[in-house]
Amino acid sequence: MGKFGVVVTIDGPAASGKSSVSREIARKHGWKWVSTGAFYRGLAYVALKKNIDLEDTKALVALCNSDEWSIELTQEKTEVLFQGVDVTEQINHEDVGSFASRISHHQEVRKSLLVAQRNCALGQKGLVAEGRDCGTVVFPDAPIKVYLTANSENRALRRALEQGSDLLEVQSAQKIRDQQDTTRKAAPLQVPENALVVDTTELDLYGVVAAVDKHIQQKLATI
Ligand code: C5P
Repeated sequence: MGKFGVVVTIDGPAASGKSSVSREIARKHGWKWVSTGAFYRGLAYVALKKNIDLEDTKALVALCNSDEWSIELTQEKTEVLFQGVDVTEQINHEDVGSFASRISHHQEVRKSLLVAQRNCALGQKGLVAEGRDCGTVVFPDAPIKVYLTANSENRALRRALEQGSDLLEVQSAQKIRDQQDTTRKAAPLQVPENALVVDTTELDLYGVVAAVDKHIQQKLATI
């Protein structure tokens, strides 16, 4: 199967269920999974810690290649380590998501993170990669692509319950983030060609995983 095994991409807007679904699918098949959002969240977090201006592309690019922070793939989550300390919990807050969205429009920053994101598939028998541009830019040749969506109230409610945050605040932050992510020039969020689209509004995790896995099994049979 060469250097890369099977790659499944799962894209979609904020809190559409991408991480939970990716984790379950990866577990089911004995594959790795990666949240590409963790790269943007990690970079934004480290930039803020180091007082780097989020519009300073040059400094952000330098930070992408710095060994002060790193990403580790585990079965449960995509971990971000800053100066050797696990900051995964901190980066998952909606405010870091907003900062991540602000830096993610820089084309040069995206380019600098691309190789590390693609390398997650190296030597793996399978990888589930989730984010905004996994099926369009990171792994455009992936044989299996999925796009998850859900109505905005439902997505905000999920995240607010998860984080114990105020529903209206989360909803307004996600609205801004979705708007930025879909309208930016560099790798905007869009439905990849040939992707299975699943609206998760009325489904529980089990239902979404079942629908996605059915699609994967059908595609695997043709590879
Ligand atoms: O998926 P998550 O909410 O962790 O992503 C945080 C932010 O990182 C997104 O709102 C988006 O701006 C950016 N992102 C991106 N491309 C990806 C993954 C995330 O631009 N592939």
